[in-house]
Amino acid sequence: MSLLSSLSLNGKNERDNRVKQQVSSSSPQLLTVLGATGTIGVNTLDVVARHPDRYQVFALSGGQQIDKLAQQCIQFQPRYAVTLEAASAAQLQQGLRQQGCTTEVLYGAEALQQIAAHPDVDAVMAAIVGAAGLPPALAAAQAGKKVLLANKEALVMAGRFFMEAVTESGARLLPIDSEHNAIFQSLPADCVSLAQAGVEKIILTASGGPFRQFSAEALSSVTPAQACAHPNWVMGRKISVDSASLMNKGLEVIEARWLFDAIPEQIEVVVHPQSVIHSMVRYRDGSVLAQLGTPDMRTPIAHALAWPERITAGVAALDFLSLPPLTFEQPDLVRFPALSLAFAALEQGADAPAVLNAANEIAVAAFLAEKIRFTAIPQLVENALTHFAHANSGCLDDLFALDQAVRSYTLQHVERITC
Ligand code: NAD
Ligand code: MG
Repeated sequence: MSLLSSLSLNGKNERDNRVKQQVSSSSPQLLTVLGATGTIGVNTLDVVARHPDRYQVFALSGGQQIDKLAQQCIQFQPRYAVTLEAASAAQLQQGLRQQGCTTEVLYGAEALQQIAAHPDVDAVMAAIVGAAGLPPALAAAQAGKKVLLANKEALVMAGRFFMEAVTESGARLLPIDSEHNAIFQSLPADCVSLAQAGVEKIILTASGGPFRQFSAEALSSVTPAQACAHPNWVMGRKISVDSASLMNKGLEVIEARWLFDAIPEQIEVVVHPQSVIHSMVRYRDGSVLAQLGTPDMRTPIAHALAWPERITAGVAALDFLSLPPLTFEQPDLVRFPALSLAFAALEQGADAPAVLNAANEIAVAAFLAEKIRFTAIPQLVENALTHFAHANSGCLDDLFALDQAVRSYTLQHVERITC
């Protein structure tokens, strides 16, 4: 099951109907933004603010930055806001009341699922980072919402279960990750499967990150601040480290497998340091279709929000005359073994991608906390993949239990390294 079959199930007629509905309907779409205080959340609200006639914010969630969430509530007046804990919820509720804002503040994992699956909600931006974003994104998929998926870890961890939920509920899944959004735009509108569309390869572009030209030796002493200074994109800290290690591209390879029902041999990665081509599709007649643009996440966000229409996003036009030369390289799998680990996990199947994801989240957090070296991240992931090589969860509860077991195992290894 893939995003393509979810498109074909609903079909072109349904798309046409939607366009008619949107044109004729005067009521704006109600939107929940999970992870509103993060980079994707902020960019989403920037696009939404440009189109108040089309979108109204139903609910917002935020983890740590309560002041930022408060400002967003005052600006967008959502019905609900959700924080992680009771104390931050009480603090936010009090602050909002003082400002005359009627938003009701809830907290915790269940509340996240409620705002994602609420009957009044039309669309959900899933932009919580990491496996913590899976339950509410899945709740939105199960409730048949239009799901704008930025949270790639949800698919890496539970691709099969997630895509089954999309199919069963008739949810509309639209990719926010710039590469997958580019591929989606480069496929035919009525695409049922890659084979039927004559696709030979999906080509994911990778910037190569801030350490593209670092030697293996230099990589062992890089700092979190260096890893988070991405040359082309402004992103959250976890995805920035993933981009620097090329694990982000590995996670995206697995994401593409699920979104487009691709086999590993159909997915290729090419390093393109300028991040102007956001990804490509090569067809069997030799044609290559690509999506280009200024590197700005508001483009894929606006594309998914308005699909199949197009809306303005505040993004600077691509000026071909001032672009640097566009270059392409092979990824260096020796200096950046994380990408090979992801391909290996995809080949292995079963729970290997979930193991990869959980171990990587712990390793990245340890690196950001300056407990381990950058080069220890893929080592910790490889250890976990070896240790949990036979994991094969039959249900989601087993998968969540495995996720916890991998985290504990990897944490123990982190402690050993740091002792
Ligand atoms: P970010 O760190 O800037 O924001 C993460 C958001 O999730 C914040 O609102 C934070 O408060 C919330 N959050 C964190 N932990 C949480 C938890 N345990 N429970 C509930 N909420 C929690 O991250 P980001 O860069 O916006 O990325 C978000 C997701 O989108 C990630 O999965 C990332 O891989 C994906 N993505 C990001 C970009 C990008 O350009 N930033 C591009 C493609 C995909
Ligand atoms: Mg991406």
